[in-house]
Amino acid sequence: MRGVVFLGDRKLALEEFPDPKPEQDEVVLEIKASGMCGTDLKMYRARGGPASLGLGDVSGPLIAGHEPCGVVAEVGSCVSEAQARTGMRVMVHHYKGCGVCKHCRTGWPQLCRAGIVVYGATANGAHAPYMKVPASTLVPLPDELSFEVGAAVSCGTGTAYSALKRIGLSGRETIAIFGQGPVGLAATQLAKAMGARVIALDVSDTRLALAKELGADVTVNSNKEDPVPAINDQTHGEGAEFTMDCSANPDARLAAVRSTGTWGTVALVGEGNELTVDVSKDLLRRQLTLMASWTFSTVIQAECAQFIVDRSIPAKKVFTHRYERLDQGEEAYKLFDKQDSGKGVFLL
Ligand SMILES: [Zn+2]
Ligand SMILES: [Zn+2]
Repeated sequence: MRGVVFLGDRKLALEEFPDPKPEQDEVVLEIKASGMCGTDLKMYRARGGPASLGLGDVSGPLIAGHEPCGVVAEVGSCVSEAQARTGMRVMVHHYKGCGVCKHCRTGWPQLCRAGIVVYGATANGAHAPYMKVPASTLVPLPDELSFEVGAAVSCGTGTAYSALKRIGLSGRETIAIFGQGPVGLAATQLAKAMGARVIALDVSDTRLALAKELGADVTVNSNKEDPVPAINDQTHGEGAEFTMDCSANPDARLAAVRSTGTWGTVALVGEGNELTVDVSKDLLRRQLTLMASWTFSTVIQAECAQFIVDRSIPAKKVFTHRYERLDQGEEAYKLFDKQDSGKGVFLL
């Protein structure tokens, strides 16, 4: 089979790999949908390719794609019926840890101290017709959800859901969401479904128009308007109860801190870069809480999927580009690199 490989420096290739065979505790999935996420863009751009993320050792070419969704095609000899059956519709929680520590046992293998595997970054991912994973990484895909929505839940949308859950967002509050890429757009849509009022910020009018479609009450183009006074204007001069950075841009992060109201919470979600703040003025004097949120657990992934079903959320609306062939990888990532569109997905 052939899979998409990030070579670094905005280059990618479709390379030949052997067809995967499951070990005892593994399954092979036939990939039906493989989403494109912000972290993929980082690996695509970086000089070192996937190794640049610092998630673990990377040796040799690896198949990209960490939003896998498909059906179980082959099951290893020690996998029980309850874990996986051929034909089962599944998502993948794209991490593997030791399996026995407190983090692994609570569904957070990405926090395992014994070393982790990140599929699509340190092991073969889903931009290929087949993918091999431990049966323990599988999360069932509800019948009501399409494979593409399952792919989104497997990273971008699940990440947005988990951060909103952790800050405890409710229908009483206003949240300002900086960056309307795949994670930010999903956060806008989910925050609305949780009842909150949403101020969506980005530097792309195309993305802001999408955010509006997904339910944003107010949109602000932070290239044209200073975001801090714009948010203050919308919140009676108080600032928003919650702000969330999905942009990873240091200026946007600082603006998020400064537009959070007294006693409010800032959620940091975007990967990479830095944040410099005046601790007394920006944080202490306003009793702010800073919360860092990295992806989600297996349990929260399943919960996110169920939330989308139960609220009939049109989660597929985050997608603006669908590719039916892996040899469109170059075209797909070139467009994503412009950061002026919604989410992309390979439908195989
Ligand atoms: Zn562990
Ligand atoms: Zn991701």
